[in-house]
Amino acid sequence: MTQEQIEKAVSLVHDVRYGGLPTHFPSLTAWDSGPLSRAEQSMLWTESLRENPQREAGIYLNIPFCRKKCAFCFLDVKGGSVYEEQEKYILAAEKEMAFFAPVFAEKEISCVYIGGGTPNFLPASLLKRILISLKHYFRIKPGAQISMESNPDFFDEEKAVAVAECGVSMLLMGIQSFSATVNRDNGRAQDVTRIKDAFDLVRRAGIKHINADLLCGLKGQTKKDFIRDVLLLSRLRPTQIHLNRIKPLAGTLPPEIKKELYSWQQAGLEILRRAGYTVLDEESACLDGIRNQQGNYIFHLDNSLLGLGSGAMSHAWGRLRSRNIVSPAEYSESALSGGAFSQLYMKTGIEEELIHYLMNTLLHGVTVMPEEVREKFGAAGEEFFRRKAADMACRGYIEESDGGWKCEMRMQDWLGVTAALYGEEMLERIIRRNGL
Ligand code: SF4
Repeated sequence: MTQEQIEKAVSLVHDVRYGGLPTHFPSLTAWDSGPLSRAEQSMLWTESLRENPQREAGIYLNIPFCRKKCAFCFLDVKGGSVYEEQEKYILAAEKEMAFFAPVFAEKEISCVYIGGGTPNFLPASLLKRILISLKHYFRIKPGAQISMESNPDFFDEEKAVAVAECGVSMLLMGIQSFSATVNRDNGRAQDVTRIKDAFDLVRRAGIKHINADLLCGLKGQTKKDFIRDVLLLSRLRPTQIHLNRIKPLAGTLPPEIKKELYSWQQAGLEILRRAGYTVLDEESACLDGIRNQQGNYIFHLDNSLLGLGSGAMSHAWGRLRSRNIVSPAEYSESALSGGAFSQLYMKTGIEEELIHYLMNTLLHGVTVMPEEVREKFGAAGEEFFRRKAADMACRGYIEESDGGWKCEMRMQDWLGVTAALYGEEMLERIIRRNGL
């Protein structure tokens, strides 16, 4: 392996373009091509749930439809779908729910996230149906957070009421920009005059928590436009606000642009701080400590996630990572004809969970204590961590802090920590699989 190959492999690990949180370890780029049979998937999930009764399980449901694909959207979204296509997809997702229902019969689901695409693009009848099916097939814990992505433009009274009646407790609203010109120049079909009405509509329907997104770095957008967006959004008082940096459809942002956009984000967060928000990290802030549970990486370190629908990612703690068939049409076909749901997968064990935990905590700037590692992963886990920590410290990527180890997170630290924790075998696998 050359240094150049290692750097390319590490960039792939961190350069993620799909919905949901990045896995980081083992990254999608290392997984096996499927299909993974239904029987095997069910067996691995059953083992994971039996071996880890104390761990929570969440559900992610993907609805891959949208009115028209925005020019900057990197998700696997189907723009302009018709009712028949959507109905077929919902039927397929119900088949998948029915398949997993017996596996999860004894397990309470502690949170649900419905993403996409934009779920509220579905007509009210289908939206209601899929939400009712989720509750029919799974035991959702009373009071569990049920969050759903949405576009303010796609709400009408019927949909808002349906969503509230079906128990959605947090709506994630993609605003991206309040400027009609910026939206138009970025191929985004959004009537910005409807944003405030949508907030009023869903609040009247009974939804208390709104988690709203803005983007910085859109084509033609100035810092002044972005700051104005932050001010306008803060006046609507959503519970949580994300100020996301644009991600190019291919490649990465040049460092000077990244730096500039980082300064926009910081200026935006300062406005939010002054408006009474608590800043959570370098791109988000919230009111009253309420945040989207599945959007918090900490949930994914200790718990499992069942992904339903096209492209959805699953994590059966200590046993399996998998990704469903990405194309909505192929997923529907396969699910309805008794075929596999998953297209990519990787069987995992406790060591993969340990590395996943170390990567995420270190790369979020959190101090990792050896005792904590021992408590979670036993003496062998602590020994593994101490060995890796000594190696990474020796190369200057992490340093001792209050009896634990911390990463300063400079560019070379990301590279060094990722390469050290991945190890030669896994890096070689990524290099081979991706022809680097
Ligand atoms: S509205 Fe959101 S999900 Fe739909 S195409 Fe635009 S960015 Fe993608």
